Amino acid sequence: MKKGLVFLGPPASGKGTQAQRLAEELEIACLSTGALLRSALSVGSPLGEKAKPFLDRGEYVPDEIMVPIVIEWVSNQSEGWLLDGFPRTVHQAEALDRALESNQPQAIVLHVPDDELRKRVIRRLECESCHRVSRSGDDEFCPDCGGLLNTRDDDSPEKFESRLSEFHRLVFPTIQYYCDRGRARIVNGVGSLDDVWRRVRI
Ligand code: ADP
Repeated sequence: MKKGLVFLGPPASGKGTQAQRLAEELEIACLSTGALLRSALSVGSPLGEKAKPFLDRGEYVPDEIMVPIVIEWVSNQSEGWLLDGFPRTVHQAEALDRALESNQPQAIVLHVPDDELRKRVIRRLECESCHRVSRSGDDEFCPDCGGLLNTRDDDSPEKFESRLSEFHRLVFPTIQYYCDRGRARIVNGVGSLDDVWRRVRI
């Protein structure tokens, strides 16, 4: 199995967009745990049912639910891979390292100040069909697939603040975990999508 990458960043940091772009550039498989959960929720699968109460409150889904799903996905990759939004807790990071043994992943961390995130989330829209992210004011339909653009359910001010505080409480220590092991690259996430992309792809 080839080495993997994990992409960490606060809500509305542009993590999903940059992660997807990087996976395309490197021609590797990408799993977004947030997109996976939203799609499970929309089809009402057993995973969606289990995750719903947490997502409704803007909380993270428990490790017992997330870890087995991601470990199974990673174990099935024979080429390189990238995880967008996992790990989010030190326990998730440790579980991933244990499963991968000597092939432990590198982390890319997008850094964006909280006030900038609050400004961004107000304008964030997502395509109902292909989940491409855009900004309000640009268009009503997705430029990629023509799907309807909507505000994400978890982008309401209350849920957003809750996700941000979950990020501080749980993901900060996870970033520290990768820094302590010399496996983190911190990228400045402020600027246009292309500015940030130039920093990510170095
Ligand atoms: P954001 O990073 O903006 O919160 P995501 O699309 O990455 O957006 O994730 C949306 C939500 O899905 C998170 O707020 C969280 O509730 C849940 N989630 C995603 N990945 C994980 C994970 N690894 N562990 C726990 N919950 C997760």
